[in-house]
Amino acid sequence: MKILIAWLSLSLLCLSTTARAEWLSRVEDGIMGTRIVVELWADDRDQGNAAIEAVLEEMRRVDRDMSTYKPTSEVSIVNAKAATMPVRISEELFDLLTQAAEYSRLTDGAFDITYASVGYMYDFRQHVRPDQSQIDKALPAVNYRHVLLDAKARTVKFSQPGVRIDLGGIGKGHAVDRGIALLQQRGIAHALVTAGGDSRIIGDRFGKPWIIGIRHPDRKDEVIARIPLEDTAISTSGDYERYFEENGVRYHHIIDPHTGQSARKVRSATIIGPTATRTDGLSKTAFVLGAERAIEIYNRIEGIDAIVVKPDGKVLYTKGLEAPSEQPAGTETKKPGN
Ligand code: ADP
Ligand code: MG
Repeated sequence: MKILIAWLSLSLLCLSTTARAEWLSRVEDGIMGTRIVVELWADDRDQGNAAIEAVLEEMRRVDRDMSTYKPTSEVSIVNAKAATMPVRISEELFDLLTQAAEYSRLTDGAFDITYASVGYMYDFRQHVRPDQSQIDKALPAVNYRHVLLDAKARTVKFSQPGVRIDLGGIGKGHAVDRGIALLQQRGIAHALVTAGGDSRIIGDRFGKPWIIGIRHPDRKDEVIARIPLEDTAISTSGDYERYFEENGVRYHHIIDPHTGQSARKVRSATIIGPTATRTDGLSKTAFVLGAERAIEIYNRIEGIDAIVVKPDGKVLYTKGLEAPSEQPAGTETKKPGN
């Protein structure tokens, strides 16, 4: 009898320590001008909360270094100086600029961080946009080939005056990847990190895939597809994220590098791929090139899948994806291979 009681109390002790493993989640507004969500499975609540804090702090750091809204950021310093001299930059920024150039090449220049040479004149919150003569004047400075990288010296130089870069099209994905790397270093095996439209997940959720919904471009609470995912990244760009309307025309935050105007060929594009930097870097393409050409490009890139919503509501998928069974009313879905 004595032995039995001892065994019981020991098992209670074990229960009380293992019972501390739990899902933790945090939603934080304002970093990088967007909503950050971190969810993870932690063996220990304190360690889990410390991991969440570390992810948020890393996002604040990326924002400090990369935001063009902050005059002291590394990117702002590059914008101020690189037209006159090569600027030595951090390994992190050099690597990101190298990736940005890769996405520009992959997308026939649809992704282009020098969009900012015109883009800086837009302020979507204040309903401000450049007129045609301002666009015409600034447009020659928009071309990713104007960004000259020297890997040996680790410098960046702009080939002409007027060039500005902005990493808004890749920065959130990068911050998400940095956050995920921190969690992995801490031994966390099940987590979701989201910054605005960019997410990455590690592992599964209670033994099942994470279910990520893609929203209807016009109806905020309606979902057009639900995708089960594990160990992957997913980014959605939409023309409903940051915009204003004037005389029935929508001016939104994705800019066609060829025209300097908002790129209106699709309503939303969702990319699934190995890293959030990559999926973020590819989600702007369909807006500039149109759904069909973008799907062709996505189909060619190893490890990438996409779901694109056209202006008429039709949804196109890359060949690696099955069309979902539930579809928005009145829309036609093109099945893979059709
Ligand atoms: P989010 O900012 O929520 O991640 P997106 O991933 O859709 O949204 O990125 C939109 C941002 O990309 C814009 O706010 C702008 O900073 C940047 N951008 C706009 N047009 C382009 C472009 N043609 N190429 C690269 N980046 C762009
Ligand atoms: Mg993004």
